[in-house]
Amino acid sequence: MKVVMIGSGYVGLVSGACFADFGHEVVCVDKDLSKIDALKSNVMPIYEPGLESLVRGNAQRGVLSFTTDLAEAVSGADAVFIAVGTPSRRGDGHADLSYVYAAAEEIARAVDDRTVIVTKSTVPVGTGDEVERICREAAPGKTLAVVSNPEFLREGAAIDDFKRPDRIVVGSEEEWARDVMREVYRPLYLNESPILFTSRRSSELIKYAANAFLATKITFINEIADLCEKVGGNVQDVARGIGLDQRIGPKFLNAGPGYGGSCFPKDTLALMKTAQDHESPVRIVEAVVNANDLRKRAMGRKVIAALGGEARGKRVALLGLTFKPNTDDMRDAPSIAVVQALLDAGAEVAAYDPEGMAEAARLLPDVRMAAGPYEAAAGAHALVMMTEWDAFRALDLGRMADVMAGDALVDLRNVYNPEDVARAGLSYTSVGR
Ligand code: NAD
Repeated sequence: MKVVMIGSGYVGLVSGACFADFGHEVVCVDKDLSKIDALKSNVMPIYEPGLESLVRGNAQRGVLSFTTDLAEAVSGADAVFIAVGTPSRRGDGHADLSYVYAAAEEIARAVDDRTVIVTKSTVPVGTGDEVERICREAAPGKTLAVVSNPEFLREGAAIDDFKRPDRIVVGSEEEWARDVMREVYRPLYLNESPILFTSRRSSELIKYAANAFLATKITFINEIADLCEKVGGNVQDVARGIGLDQRIGPKFLNAGPGYGGSCFPKDTLALMKTAQDHESPVRIVEAVVNANDLRKRAMGRKVIAALGGEARGKRVALLGLTFKPNTDDMRDAPSIAVVQALLDAGAEVAAYDPEGMAEAARLLPDVRMAAGPYEAAAGAHALVMMTEWDAFRALDLGRMADVMAGDALVDLRNVYNPEDVARAGLSYTSVGR
């Protein structure tokens, strides 16, 4: 089949490369010329483990190509996926659908008759109806099906998630479009990934409900962690104790600095706005959004407390800046709020991140980017474990203590063992322990 991805970012590029790996002919389109030029020379615009070799192999086999020419790309396509960004709209938190609508119009004009247009971007319920209207207006003579197919991959594990998803959700009531989607995803359900057909609106809602539920789970354990600190419990024991209950499950129960990233913050906010517009408020999600916002700043105060309550003139080193390990994505990373709180309090901040520093330097111009973890820690009064990259798990804490000017280790990911930290002569603050 010929599959075209419109938007070659985290989702479009990974999905396109995986579809090509399964044997489809794939064209990835982006309007960003520098991204496409880089991809043509096998330079990845993002960091994602395994992506470079997957792209190179399939490009060499001639089944994966890159272009900025949407009209040429979609000619002869069986399915055209919209995988453009849907960021929060400035001012009100609704999803900004302008990229989706612009792409839909362009696609409709250029595709052949009887093509399936698939919205993979995360879009509020009802967006498919509007995309369908745009397509009908742009190409009145064509029979086009607009299908919802949300993506659930996680950055850092995106290829594996795409190839072995827990489920594939397809929202369409048109049988011919379902047949095309069955064929597109056939290699995956041969791997026994269930494909769930729903109405388009249910499919759109599934994505938001899933992300809101996961964000709720994280926020829940974070609040339990705060309570543990007050009453003398250990949140890791509590998480294990509840996670072994199969009705709850162990995942997404790691206490930390609050969720961030390119999806949860904007998606929880967008769901909240949709719900308010329909006078059916999602109060739990509203509480989650509020608690998570407050939490990020509170983590800055936690670091200041570890400095003895005064940050002015002190140096703080952050290990990790991206919102999670194994990605270079800095969108809504909790580190941004923590850095801001520290700078506001008069601290100097240095940082090291294995993949995120180029983007972080743009967002956080007042932070000194260091060449490595020990370089970041040199002369610091407090060291903050911000993102739990594997490279930080086995640091030589004794060496850290030697290069630092102070002795505070603030572990916002509960990576270290308190006894090991004490042995290194550092004073330890973690989350909920
Ligand atoms: P991204 O910003 O990394 O990529 C989007 C790309 O689309 C950009 O390269 C941009 O240049 C391009 N683009 C925009 N308009 C275009 C047009 N008209 N024609 C061609 N290219 C165009 O975004 P992303 O992280 O890949 O997210 C895409 C969508 O997938 C969002 O709705 C997001 O919520 C959703 N999603 C993301 C993830 C994730 O982990 N990043 C996971 C699941 C779902």
